[in-house]
Amino acid sequence: TPLINARLPKKMQSLLLLVGQKAERENVRVFAVGGFIRDLLLQIPNHDLDLVVEPAAIPFAEKLNELLRGQLTTHEQFGTASIVVPGGTQIDLVTSRQEFYARPAALPEVEQSSLKNDLFRRDFTINTLACSLKVSEFGTLIDFFHGIDDLGKGLIRVLYNLSFVEDPLRVLRAVRFEQRFGFRLEETTLSLLENAAQTRVLEKVSKERLYDEIQLALLEEKTPEILIRYFELQLAPLLFPGVCYSEKLKNRLTSTREMIAWAGRNWPDAAVSPSALYLAALMLELPFQEARHLCRRLRLPRNEVERVLAAVESVPQLLTKLLTPESLKNSELYHLFSGLPAEVLLILQAENSLSRIWESTSLYWEKLRHIKPDVGGRDLLAEGYLPGPVFQEVLLALKDARLDRQVLNREEELSLARKLFAMKEKNDA
Ligand code: ATP
Repeated sequence: TPLINARLPKKMQSLLLLVGQKAERENVRVFAVGGFIRDLLLQIPNHDLDLVVEPAAIPFAEKLNELLRGQLTTHEQFGTASIVVPGGTQIDLVTSRQEFYARPAALPEVEQSSLKNDLFRRDFTINTLACSLKVSEFGTLIDFFHGIDDLGKGLIRVLYNLSFVEDPLRVLRAVRFEQRFGFRLEETTLSLLENAAQTRVLEKVSKERLYDEIQLALLEEKTPEILIRYFELQLAPLLFPGVCYSEKLKNRLTSTREMIAWAGRNWPDAAVSPSALYLAALMLELPFQEARHLCRRLRLPRNEVERVLAAVESVPQLLTKLLTPESLKNSELYHLFSGLPAEVLLILQAENSLSRIWESTSLYWEKLRHIKPDVGGRDLLAEGYLPGPVFQEVLLALKDARLDRQVLNREEELSLARKLFAMKEKNDA
């Protein structure tokens, strides 16, 4: 209770109390479990509340939501419910897994073992902590599997030897938690994981779950470390076939994180997709067809695929052009970058830290892409020129002239347009 009072925002404290009071009134037991308790102990904010309810989650969720007036969703076949509380907190409620045998009524040991049973099926000891919320036992911490010990020692430990075989996705979750918290894989867990990697158990996971987990990994602060660890633990060949590990890749991944943070500060309108950037960084040296195949394998949504493949396709050529000794005119830079997503510019920056690259990408993103001539098609029509190929050429030439500062205002643009039309007429004649 002191931890709850000291570390959680007031709103969350009231929510927990409300849940506890409702549990008391409905005569059910409710436990906050998993990541919520782990993060409370680690002093990390966590806005998602996972609850285990005994004996049944759905009727309790319905009663609770009468008070909370949130958005309630129920899944009868799994006995689960979720409530999105106004303000954004998500509460997930699961029914504590039942024993095989009929439970004698109101026997606390049996009831407890039902919670224990539920927690035993979880992935790592640090995720098995529970805290009772029912008012009469509010704040009681339950630690069946020495999760607190492991939290203190910084260890990721599975609960039983077949854990990775039973659900191979846990292999990737282990790496994600290990890197997120700066923990270590406990010795036996590490050898079980290495064994699982060798026997390619990850191939048994459905593509959807695999993709969801990779997406989660790509949203972490420690994404580069997680991806590098996938390579160290021989998991990467299954996830990203064809991608070879090198110091260069390692540095590119780390620089990609810096670019994401940099873009957040300097190019807020770029709405950069971190996952597309990391995947582009991973696939940069793959042949285009292989990269496309991998995007399909990873089931990336179309807009992500476009960003990743734009980078794979254009970054090598862009680098060659940007690194030629002659400096490029603004209009040339504009045409080089025009239509490319911001992710491509950021990967260029991550790939090569030469100030020349940065100056070019920044000049384009911050200035050149916004430049438009004052004179448009309507003005040329008003001058009596007729639409057609020459008309288009003149408009493009005006844009280039404006980009290269050969014309600085409307009058200069109009006089250039007249000159260009006259030249064309003369040539045609
Ligand atoms: P995060 O901070 O990433 O949300 P979390 O621990 O809350 O971490 P979730 O993925 O939201 O993780 O899962 C909630 C809980 O469900 C976990 O704490 C864990 O106990 C359990 N869990 C999730 N996935 C698995 C799995 N594959 N095998 C066993 N238990 C799992």
